[in-house]
Amino acid sequence: MTEAPVLDRASAQVRSEIEPEPSGTFERVLTGVFTGVPFLALLAAVPLAWTWGLLGWSDVAIGAVFYFITAAGITVGFHRHFTHGSFKAVRPLRIALALAGSLAIQGPVITWVSDHRRHHKYSDKEADPHSPWRFGSDWKALTKGLFWAHYGWFFDEKRTSQERFSPDLLADKDIRRIDRAFPALVAVSFLLPAVLGGLITMSWQGALTALFWASFVRISMVHHVTWSINSICHTFGVKDFEVRDKSRNVWWLAILSLGESWHNLHHADPTCARHGVLPGQVDISARIIWTFEKFRWASDVRWPNAARLANKRAVRQG
Ligand SMILES: [Zn+2]
Ligand SMILES: [Zn+2]
Repeated sequence: MTEAPVLDRASAQVRSEIEPEPSGTFERVLTGVFTGVPFLALLAAVPLAWTWGLLGWSDVAIGAVFYFITAAGITVGFHRHFTHGSFKAVRPLRIALALAGSLAIQGPVITWVSDHRRHHKYSDKEADPHSPWRFGSDWKALTKGLFWAHYGWFFDEKRTSQERFSPDLLADKDIRRIDRAFPALVAVSFLLPAVLGGLITMSWQGALTALFWASFVRISMVHHVTWSINSICHTFGVKDFEVRDKSRNVWWLAILSLGESWHNLHHADPTCARHGVLPGQVDISARIIWTFEKFRWASDVRWPNAARLANKRAVRQG
């Protein structure tokens, strides 16, 4: 009798953090199309490049530039700036980061930030939107959980409450406008590389191969690298710092994820602008923030604090 009211209050709180309206079927079909079709292109990429040689230098160049801009839009923008406030940004930079992150096609900025704040609040507990440990810890449950954390959770009908998790972003007119313009930005992310490819090579074939490589393949690569932080970095890797969840540091994803795979430190010290804080832990996003700071576009950067980190260092690693 004494415990029941406490549990009731806890679940009432979690319930209040979910939007009353569940996500609709149409929304979930769109999610499937805009994530699934680029993934098919990613699967077809290797035979196409090797067998038919349909990969020109302009495709590689446009693809690399769009990969870098959109991945950094997520890591520096959506994640370190908007979700965690690791640094303040001047207005044009704040807008550019919201636009660049939207081009990664991982959902509108306020949705992304709300989900990620809920992830930190409940990491690897029941109300975490994407924990790989959701179904249990035996190999079968964990296999299912890895798929859930990587991709399945996008089709969950429970949507995170934006009022509860992102009142700061809802109060920002520019950010709300970019959030609403998401469908147009999805179109830009698919079509702009094709336009550039066509103009650079002055050919329809150049436009088509750029659409394939720099749009479809690039979008799917950014998707799966970001999603690996939710799946792989909460299951495998090294525990360098003390955390209450299963977040781990994964070295082999560091370059592609622009430093986000130092995810164990990130959960130990979420507002820190640098995630790769130990010697040899390359963190390209931190270098980008450092560059913004030099130009005075970023301020109040929360760089690592040696004393704080020493306190959080894990005694037993692995
Ligand atoms: Zn995490
Ligand atoms: Zn985070």
